Amino acid sequence: MLNIIIFGPPGAGKGTQSLKLMEKYNLVHLSTGNILRGEVASQTALGIQAKALMDKGILVSDDIVIGMIGDKISSNLHSRGFIYDGFPRTLPQAVALDKLMAQYNLTITVILSLEVEEEELFKRISKRGIDSGREDDRSYEVFQKRMEVYNLETKPLKEFYTRQGKLKTIIGFGGVENVFNMLCEEIYKVNVI
Ligand code: AMP
Repeated sequence: MLNIIIFGPPGAGKGTQSLKLMEKYNLVHLSTGNILRGEVASQTALGIQAKALMDKGILVSDDIVIGMIGDKISSNLHSRGFIYDGFPRTLPQAVALDKLMAQYNLTITVILSLEVEEEELFKRISKRGIDSGREDDRSYEVFQKRMEVYNLETKPLKEFYTRQGKLKTIIGFGGVENVFNMLCEEIYKVNVI
């Protein structure tokens, strides 16, 4: 079973590349951002609570997202595998994912880290804000907050996965297809599909 984490700052192309990888390798796409936006759209208690944080660029609690991921893994154990998009985002989330993997006798295949310069990230985010109407893509202040949260809480995970020998870095620039091909090459190297 493939367990691929797609990693990177907001606007790096994680969502776009996840969809392509999902199709090519027949994976279940686990995007905590999408799941949360679904809760917001359905106006569940969780959605209402999460929206206030998401609109400000602040992370929702670890327990909530860990619970979501646990549910999705346990209900898709017969799939070809998973692509984790936007999770893990904190050290406790990464530790919890390792525990879930152990619980189901699975292993993380690879972490694919998309590297994109900050100036380009904001360009992409503002474009997405116009196209998709995502509240958190609409202001520079919220973008800055998300970058601050990324640098403080999420980026240190690179160190965590480097120590596990699982981190691969990919330049997330130069066209969607080029980036996709580089991601597929890395998956091929670790998994020989
Ligand atoms: P994304 O679509 O991945 O950019 O996520 C949008 C927002 O959802 C984030 O800014 C957070 O508020 C929340 N979120 C998504 N994934 C996580 C996560 N793994 N941990 C905490 N909050 C998350």
